Amino acid sequence: MKPNVVVLSLGGTIAMADKGGAGVAPGLTAEMLVAAVPQLAEVATVEAASFRQLPSPEIGFDDLFALAREITARLEGGARGVVVTQGTDTMEESAFVLDRIVTADGPVVITGAMRNPTMAGPDGPANLLNAVRVAVHEAARGLGAMVVMNDDIHAARYVQKSHTNSPAAFRSTPVGPIGWIAEGTPRILLRPAERYSIALPAAPGDASVALLTVTLGDDGRLIDQVLEAGYGGLVLEATGGGHVPAAIADKLEQALRHIPVVFASRTGRGETQRRTYDFPGSEMDLLRRGLIGAGWLDGLKARLLLTLLLRAGADRETIGESFAAWLTPLAPR
Ligand code: ASP
Repeated sequence: MKPNVVVLSLGGTIAMADKGGAGVAPGLTAEMLVAAVPQLAEVATVEAASFRQLPSPEIGFDDLFALAREITARLEGGARGVVVTQGTDTMEESAFVLDRIVTADGPVVITGAMRNPTMAGPDGPANLLNAVRVAVHEAARGLGAMVVMNDDIHAARYVQKSHTNSPAAFRSTPVGPIGWIAEGTPRILLRPAERYSIALPAAPGDASVALLTVTLGDDGRLIDQVLEAGYGGLVLEATGGGHVPAAIADKLEQALRHIPVVFASRTGRGETQRRTYDFPGSEMDLLRRGLIGAGWLDGLKARLLLTLLLRAGADRETIGESFAAWLTPLAPR
């Protein structure tokens, strides 16, 4: 008896088809994706279901909340693991959200393709087969959500899309992939510490969080727009270890009267500083004014974390504690 795996498709390049237009558009169902990879039958009994049919920039939080409920139901219903296929553009964000809100131990493996099925050498079938291999693998249990692309296994919390078209578009930072697949066998060498789950209420709030990047000569006037537009939070990708022009620091202090503000680094790698620079607009100044440092989370992930916390009803203190916890993980128990 092979283990059961459910493949839920959301669209994306892996499911794109020539629909008579100038380019490709989502068109293949989950059943079609699975039928195109007969080797899957050697690994698992696969059940396929089309969950959405979207290019991945169209995926929203409500889609992911519904997807998390579906995944949980499938795992509780006896599936060994669940594979999600979706577009790669927002894959790192979906993976991060699912990693926070699906608490079951069954692996949740997200995959897709960089080359669509009409091109020479599409990578979707190989990625799907590898994803199912990881979904049934004993060492993948309890790891939360993972991204499997191009023979690499990435933990959702570290993965980033870092290229527009290469099949090797995905990387993990600040540490590397947690494993790989060789000759059809998953090798998992690292287990991330802690799960960092967020319990959403039955009816989550609808707060949205803006993400802004600070640039040379910036006067921060977009910060006013963020408040006017009614965002519930702001993540600012600051320069270097967490630095902004002094005028922006003043604007941020004003913004803090209304919404929580988190600063990440626009470099996308490394952690935000806490006790190195002390000039107006430095990280020490921002922290003193009440901003929260994102630590090693990049701007995209910090925005997702803040959004989920706000939608779960967290207050400022809980938000600060939650970001801080990512810097001092407990060993897995
Ligand atoms: N280029 C994208 C992909 O890799 C399109 C999308 O994200 O849906 O799937």
